[in-house]
Amino acid sequence: MVVRRRTVLGAVLAGAGVLAAGGCADVPVDSGGGFGAEGAGGPKRDPKPGNGERITVVATGDVLLHERLWTTAKRDGANGNWDFAPLMGSVEPLVRVADLAVCHLETPLAPLGGPYHGYPLFQGPPQIAAALKQTGYDVCTTASNHSFDAGAAGVDRTLNTLERAGLRHAGTARTRAEAETPTIIDVRGVKVVSCHWGDEYSAKLNAQQREVAPQLLADSNIDLVLGHHAHVVQPMEQINGKWVAYGLGNLVAAHREPTSTKAEGLLVRFTFRRDGDRWTTAQAEYAPLLMTDALPVRVLDVRRELAKPGLAAARRRRLELAERRTTATVRALGATPEPI
Ligand SMILES: [Zn+2]
Repeated sequence: MVVRRRTVLGAVLAGAGVLAAGGCADVPVDSGGGFGAEGAGGPKRDPKPGNGERITVVATGDVLLHERLWTTAKRDGANGNWDFAPLMGSVEPLVRVADLAVCHLETPLAPLGGPYHGYPLFQGPPQIAAALKQTGYDVCTTASNHSFDAGAAGVDRTLNTLERAGLRHAGTARTRAEAETPTIIDVRGVKVVSCHWGDEYSAKLNAQQREVAPQLLADSNIDLVLGHHAHVVQPMEQINGKWVAYGLGNLVAAHREPTSTKAEGLLVRFTFRRDGDRWTTAQAEYAPLLMTDALPVRVLDVRRELAKPGLAAARRRRLELAERRTTATVRALGATPEPI
C-alpha cells in the first residue's frame, strides 16, 4: 500500500537512550506543508485538499508477544512458517480500510528462528511484522518500557524487521539522527501523538496523564493523542474539541486471565474533516475487543461476534461483559464516542 498521507506520529520517548515507562517526547512540528513520507528531501506541499474531505485513523493497543501467541502462530501456519495473521483476523476489516492504521509493538523482535523470549525480557518472533502488515496496519509505535529488552541490537533489529515488512515506525531509533527525525506519514496534515503512559492494569488515569493530555491537545499542531501501556482499557476524553484515547489495552497478549479486563482491548476510529486550513474531528468511534484464552488464541471484535448466530451461552456472556465493561470505562470521564 502506498502511504500517501501526512501524520506526525509523535516519537514517544524519542530515542533509544531515554526509554522510560511514561511520557511523550517532543512533538514534531509540521512546518508549513510538512515533509514527505520518507522524512527527507525537505518540505513539500500537498495538493490543496478541499473542504469536507475526510480521513480515518484507526488504532489498537499493545502487541505483547507472550509464548501462547507463538504457539498460536505455529498452529495457524503451514510448512513450519508461523502465521500471526489469523490471530488478528477479526480486526482486519476495520484496520484494512482506514486511511491510517496504527499499531503498538510493545516488545523487540528476535532474529528469525529465535531464540524467542517472553516475560520479563521479551524478544518476540519477527513473523508478527508481516502479519501486522497483512492485517492492514501502516505504522507501529515502538517506544515502551520493553523497547530495550534485547538491548540496542534488539532496537535496530526490530525497526529493520518492520521496514522489511513494509511498516513505518515511530518511537525508537537506531541512530541519534533517526531519533531526532520525527516519523511523518503523509495523511494530508492530521497529526497524531502516541504516548506510552499510565499505570499498568489500572483503568484510571494517573497524574501524568491528567497533566500531559490537556497540554498536548492545547497545541495546535496536535489533532489526536493515543495511549498505551496499562494493558487494560482506559477512558477516552474530548479536550478542546480533540480526542485522547488514554489506553487502548492490548491488541494481542496472553495474560492467561480470561475473565479479567486484561483480556479486553479497544479499537478506536477517528474521522477527521477538512475545515479550511485545519482538520476537525468529525466522529470518534470505538469497538470493544476480547482475547480468547483457548488455543488457537484469537482477538475478537466483540460486537461483530455477538451478532453471530448460535453463540454458546458462556461465550455470549463473556462477550457481553467485555462490551459492558469497555463501554463503561471508555465513557468514565463523560465522553460518548459512538459504537462501530
Ligand atoms: Zn508498557
